[in-house]
Amino acid sequence: MSNADNKRKTEALFEFIRRLALKNRLDPDNAVKIFTTLLQATDGKGLSDEELSEITKLRQGEIRNVLRMLYSLRMVGYRRGRHPTTGATRYYWYPDYTGINMSLYWRKKKVLEKLRQRLEYEESNTFFRCPTDGLRYTFEEAFEFDFTCPKCNTMLVEEDNSRVKEYLRKRIAMLEEEIRRDEELLRAP
Ligand SMILES: [Zn+2]
Repeated sequence: MSNADNKRKTEALFEFIRRLALKNRLDPDNAVKIFTTLLQATDGKGLSDEELSEITKLRQGEIRNVLRMLYSLRMVGYRRGRHPTTGATRYYWYPDYTGINMSLYWRKKKVLEKLRQRLEYEESNTFFRCPTDGLRYTFEEAFEFDFTCPKCNTMLVEEDNSRVKEYLRKRIAMLEEEIRRDEELLRAP
């Protein structure tokens, strides 16, 4: 993979984690921070929540919530170990790359579905726009309001949405290509 591909993949991954965190009422930046710390711990032993807390300066409670969220999608795994001095059971967390790739793959499929629905909506409707405040109406809505903006009474003008459609088609084609490549990789032994 090229550097640009890698960078885009990392950005997509962090964006995905931010969204997940927001959905789970967790701080998105801290979630990314915790995940990045795990990615950077390259010795393979993994990090305990105590060690994660020392490195990130975040509370262990918050760290455990983020780990639980990531574990529910198998984006991280853990192994049981012993505390080096007290001997108590501890869990060492590490990134699970198969789970990460699977999560990104399903996220892309969902985005693709949304983009296709949006394109279908744009293709099957005619739109009108208010030149004063930029509000947008479907043909049915504009018809209902006698083709004047209900907010400011300005005459509505028909909108050319061909650029929107063109943009959506391009995004869809790119994503389809990415998904095709992901499927090849996921199928590879
Ligand atoms: Zn208006």
